[in-house]
Amino acid sequence: MAEQSKVSSEVATAALKEALGDLLEFDRPLAPLTTYGTGGPARYFVSVTTADQLAGALTAASGLDLPFFVMGGGSNLLVADSGYDGLVIRVSIKGIALTGESTVETGAGEDLAALVDFATDHGLTGLEFAAGIWGTVGGAVYGNAGAYGGEIKDVIIDLTLVNRDGETRRVDPPYCRFGYRDSYLKVTGEIVVKAVFRLGRGDKQNIEAKVKEILALREKNHPIHGRSAGCFFKNIPDPKEPFGKLPAGRLLDEAGTKGLSVGGAAVFDKHANIIVNTGAATSKDIRQLADIMKKRVFEKFGVKLEEEVIQLGNF
Ligand SMILES: Cc1cc2nc3c(=O)[nH]c(=O)nc-3n(C[C@H](O)[C@H](O)[C@H](O)COP(=O)(O)OP(=O)(O)OC[C@H]3O[C@@H](n4cnc5c(N)ncnc54)[C@H](O)[C@@H]3O)c2cc1C
Repeated sequence: MAEQSKVSSEVATAALKEALGDLLEFDRPLAPLTTYGTGGPARYFVSVTTADQLAGALTAASGLDLPFFVMGGGSNLLVADSGYDGLVIRVSIKGIALTGESTVETGAGEDLAALVDFATDHGLTGLEFAAGIWGTVGGAVYGNAGAYGGEIKDVIIDLTLVNRDGETRRVDPPYCRFGYRDSYLKVTGEIVVKAVFRLGRGDKQNIEAKVKEILALREKNHPIHGRSAGCFFKNIPDPKEPFGKLPAGRLLDEAGTKGLSVGGAAVFDKHANIIVNTGAATSKDIRQLADIMKKRVFEKFGVKLEEEVIQLGNF
């Protein structure tokens, strides 16, 4: 069920205008802000570029008891076709800086790809695994993004968070209780403002070569140019498997999901755990296809797949 706003439209609009001024947008289409390119508008929308703006937006929404949702790059997001009846706060806090011999500080709205480039340019190793992962640093922390045996938790040393009351504080990584595509931020609802990474000094050419190797691997089995949100379902914990995870894609493949489609949504032909928007998909198409895929795997293996992609709005 989607959350319901408890305040009248007039009251919310007036209070948000007062708090956010010209930053506030109405009925902002979200589709262009997501990699799927689907879904409806946000009733209220603000893109924040500073920690103060973020705190202000959160305080305003909380004060009004207005449902809100924080997004980054929209690369792990499926927005309902009917949109979102609340405030969407897009974190666009930028900036990457070297703060020590091998420590790097970034704004939460910085692209993870830009951070990987920065590390490579400065001969810093540790983030090569993240080459080709879309989205922002904040989104990567929230879901502990990872690939090829690495996870964001391996390189984080310090985080600045803000809570729904606009209060800011610094925390150490253990606070976040990182797990597989998981963090405690999913429970607390705190938002990442800034992150500090500890990397290692490395050979620039070796780092570049590793990044290229990973991007080449991705090009083989990911829809680099297609609209997707990466893997739709989480892999299944299994100590017998490499990296301790049974790939959901393998089960989906063996359950015969490749070739399936609903409307404009299709299972990617090189990777059964990826749903692509082939052009004119709706979010409903994507959701329906995901349901069919889930059912097939459950019927064949008795395994209930869990979504990695975050859903926003009413499905
Ligand atoms: C082609 C492709 C390949 C991908 N490959 C991978 C992969 O290999 N590994 C992987 O892990 N993921 C992968 N993804 C998924 C996606 O890139 C990651 O999950 C990414 O970290 C999401 O970041 P985002 O900024 O886009 O978050 P969004 O999609 O905007 O949001 C996702 C969640 O993060 C939360 N969030 C966003 N910003 C913040 C913040 N500042 N503070 C707190 N919470 C926040 C949102 O509330 C939401 O719940 C891939 C996606 C694509 C399109």
